Amino acid sequence: NRKIVLDLMPNGIPKKENFQMIEEPVPKIKDGQILVRNIYISLDPYIRGRMMDSLPIGPYQINEPLGGETVSVVEESKNENFQKGDLVEGNFGLQDWAVCDSWAIMKLQGPELKHPTLALGLMGLPGFSAFMGLVDIGNPQPRETVVVGACTGAVGSVVGQIAILKGAHVVGIAGTDEKCKYAVETLKFDKCLNRHASDFKQQLKEACPHGIDIYFENVGGKIFEAVIPLLNQRARVPICGLMSQSNSETPLSIDVSLVEFQNLILAKRIRVQGFIIYQDYFTRYSDFKKGMCEWVEHDKFTFKEDIVKGLENSADAFIGLFEGKNFGKLIIQAGEI
Ligand code: NDP
Repeated sequence: NRKIVLDLMPNGIPKKENFQMIEEPVPKIKDGQILVRNIYISLDPYIRGRMMDSLPIGPYQINEPLGGETVSVVEESKNENFQKGDLVEGNFGLQDWAVCDSWAIMKLQGPELKHPTLALGLMGLPGFSAFMGLVDIGNPQPRETVVVGACTGAVGSVVGQIAILKGAHVVGIAGTDEKCKYAVETLKFDKCLNRHASDFKQQLKEACPHGIDIYFENVGGKIFEAVIPLLNQRARVPICGLMSQSNSETPLSIDVSLVEFQNLILAKRIRVQGFIIYQDYFTRYSDFKKGMCEWVEHDKFTFKEDIVKGLENSADAFIGLFEGKNFGKLIIQAGEI
């Protein structure tokens, strides 16, 4: 059983030497248990948070595989509810094999049976985060302006598309012109701006002539700085993630002070709320799955996946997340179904 584990705690952007591949015998199952072989493994930015002690779910343990949600095939079962060949979703991380109890896996259903990787993107943790952060905290209304960064990524692309379904004007921000073209032409966002443009602040102002009602925060830093002066009365700012800050050893500085921002929050009655998806919305998971399933079955969503073959390529693929190299939901393919 190959496993990708943490070697050294990273400082700054993770490097290849922070990851290590180890091999162990394939685990044996006991009565009631199931042996699964992982096919697809999700790579998500939160893995970086678990490489240090900064997330409520805590750091990785020694020999614990890194990552993430998985789509696996049942290879052996001593549990009457699962048969060899069943496709299941679970959370077994970057490894080839895992033994589990029945509560730890769910059989793929509906659109996921046709397209199993949906369980890791649109219908998994990223889709769930986009859905709850935007609908529950953002509460978009027709004709409001919604801005979202990392907008062709796993979370951002779903945020923008739900906002469009709710009748909002959607402005995306991405790291390349190619990604921006995709956001406008394929995802049907109203506008998309390249965050590296030298006049980015001015472009954002022009793209949001009526100000910003919802800023869905995926990245922080300079993008947040450009957003702040454009926030409207009673704007909502769901804080989902802070890509630009997750690797900095010293806090990023922006040109707006905390005191200025607090004054603005008070004067404009802005709502800023962070969330950790499974901790805050665990009980809403089945509502999300049901709602998303209906949308997907009615072709309301476009999704893009960046599937990297080979468990041995996990470190490079993961590091690429912080360089904007992924184009769509990043997934490792460890084997064949
Ligand atoms: P993505 O698929 O969007 O990949 C990350 C993207 O972030 C990159 O492609 C890049 O896009 C952008 N990025 C990377 N570095 C920087 C930087 N320095 N400055 C600005 N942008 C940068 O990832 P996900 O959709 O999986 O995650 C998006 C966010 O959601 C993350 O912050 C993640 O931590 C958060 N999240 C939070 C959850 C929660 O429970 N709160 C759950 C799931 C995700 P580009 O180059 O195109 O700008």
